[in-house]
Amino acid sequence: MVEQVAENIYRIGVPLPGNPLKELNSYFIRGTDSDLLIDTGFRRQTCQQALEEGLAELGSDPARRDVLLTHLHSDHAGMADLFVGPGRHVYMGKVDMERLDTFLRRRGPDPRELRFISEGFPTDLVRAVSEVNPASQETVPCIDGSFQGLEDGDVLRTGEYELKTLLVPGHTPGNCMFWVEEQGIMFSGDHILFDITPNITEWSGVDDALGAYLDSLRKVKGYPVKLTLPGHRKTGDYRARIEHLLSHHQKRLEEALSVVRAAPGLTAYEIAGKMTWKIRANSWEDFPMVQKWFAVGECLSHLDYLRRRDKVRREEKDGLWRYEAI
Ligand SMILES: [Zn+2]
Repeated sequence: MVEQVAENIYRIGVPLPGNPLKELNSYFIRGTDSDLLIDTGFRRQTCQQALEEGLAELGSDPARRDVLLTHLHSDHAGMADLFVGPGRHVYMGKVDMERLDTFLRRRGPDPRELRFISEGFPTDLVRAVSEVNPASQETVPCIDGSFQGLEDGDVLRTGEYELKTLLVPGHTPGNCMFWVEEQGIMFSGDHILFDITPNITEWSGVDDALGAYLDSLRKVKGYPVKLTLPGHRKTGDYRARIEHLLSHHQKRLEEALSVVRAAPGLTAYEIAGKMTWKIRANSWEDFPMVQKWFAVGECLSHLDYLRRRDKVRREEKDGLWRYEAI
């Protein structure tokens, strides 16, 4: 499905079957000497077919096509190498590019899985999740010479549009938005979504992912955005949405803290089970395992935030971290 969203900018809906996000918004900018495709979809037959059909409908010539990725997640980066033109570039934030490279080259145990186990996530479930998680199964095979890293402030030009890179860590450590000042257009990726809350999880090597996310929201709040083009679902009022996301996380922080206060000594896995989630399941035990993984990651980013601000502390007992309020 292709829809025009601005002069020479089109949205191609790439279905994400079985995923609560439903669809990826891939954006195609028709330029003069080259075209730019922003985000691609999981490396999966359904996604590839939809994107190919959309681009064919727009008469996109692969030889003219550069690809731009908002972040490393596989529903955005998964097919970058399949859609970039020969000799052309895949641009993405340098921080995420290096992280994705490390992830793809890793042979030993995943530090993230080790952390989840130490936070109470059952070991057998960690194994099961890693086998079905699209993060590792449905993404680009490697970071090759076509990839080019972007720094905060770097500018890309396509036709009448100038896209300025804004490094907004949080959703991923090197997450980027792209700001088109002249036309007031913000490609917000997954930093700002409108009818779903961006997932903020813990990241190995990042002390305080949620703190970084909230700082990144505040940093970009003042931009005079006329049209936001998000990575998933619908657009909406930019500034009102940022205000809402800030207060949403404030409430989630209060909720996490009150769970820790009411029942000291729980693991993060158990705390996540006592928080409220927008998932249709009768109990924490009935949660689909991949959703459990996301819920615990999100809970951990809130606990890390509270820990950094001396609201909670954790202590190791029998190999598991257990939390209590300070
Ligand atoms: Zn994402």
